[in-house]
Amino acid sequence: ADIAMYQAKKQGPGQLVFFEGHMHDHQLKRSQMESDLRQTLQQHQLEVHYQPLINLSSGRIMGFEALARWYHPHKGWIHPVQFIPIAEESGLVLQLDRLVLQQACQQVQQWSQHRRDLLHLSVNMSTLQFAQPDFYAVVSEILQATQFPAWQLRLEITESLLLERGDVVRQNLQQLQDLGVKLHIDDFGTGYSSLGYLQQFAASALKIDRSFIQKLQLGRQHQELVRTIIQMAHNLGMSVVAEGVETLEQQDWLRQSRCDVVQGFMYSHPVEARAAMHLLDQEEAGKLLVQF
Ligand code: C2E
Ligand code: MG
Ligand code: MG
Ligand code: MG
Repeated sequence: ADIAMYQAKKQGPGQLVFFEGHMHDHQLKRSQMESDLRQTLQQHQLEVHYQPLINLSSGRIMGFEALARWYHPHKGWIHPVQFIPIAEESGLVLQLDRLVLQQACQQVQQWSQHRRDLLHLSVNMSTLQFAQPDFYAVVSEILQATQFPAWQLRLEITESLLLERGDVVRQNLQQLQDLGVKLHIDDFGTGYSSLGYLQQFAASALKIDRSFIQKLQLGRQHQELVRTIIQMAHNLGMSVVAEGVETLEQQDWLRQSRCDVVQGFMYSHPVEARAAMHLLDQEEAGKLLVQF
């Protein structure tokens, strides 16, 4: 076998641990990345990009989803697929989510001041966050400090949170909802959904995962599935957001099927704050992102 023993490391008395070459490389990169990320967070240098969410009946921008972006001095822009898993394993995601929340509330509140109607803000929250006893206090402090209205905030969570039964989780959820914060279930359809939990949970919207939207063109069965999700959500009093909308055909089908909100590259990629503000200015000047 071609196992290369590039490195042997002493682990406790008399114990040698051997790594496969690429394995060691991988772990080294990972721990380097973890310490770079830790430093970036300490210096508050993580950036936030914004992707518009569009109301399918008015055609107007109703708000933005905040998406974390990391500008690395040597590697350039790093996307969340590369650092969120590391952030989750190391617990750094707690700090990361809070930094994104703080920055985005401050930013979107500033934009809202120049508009007739207030903007919504959606922020992704790791499941881990809800098990922290101070989570509710942190969110309400950020809302207070930024003056962002609680009822305009949506926390995007994944289906894995539906399985959490702890007291701390339940209390955080209850207090946040009492404050008016909404919960949106992200990537809906990809996790372990128990429809029973879904109802208990009182989420205000489902975000249909983009894999389902991409498959709409493949035929009737795929379409029926999405139509059924939309109807179920509506019957349970939830609204529906479609993620990853890229074509006019997808948009028209979703509109006919009574999907409420769309988000995707067709309208805008996630962009930095200045560019997002430009989208709002263009809309004020009469140029909508959606053409029906
Ligand atoms: P998500 O919450 O499902 O975010 C949507 C992702 O889909 C974003 O990827 C966005 O750029 C991408 N997207 C949007 N429209 C389209 C489209 O039309 N086509 C395609 N192919 N993709 C589209 P991004 O920014 O790379 O984020 C990936 C994931 O990382 C997010 O998925 C979210 O789960 C996670 N994430 C991002 N920011 C944060 C954060 O601040 N905290 C936590 N905990 N997770 C985050
Ligand atoms: Mg999301
Ligand atoms: Mg997600
Ligand atoms: Mg998603």
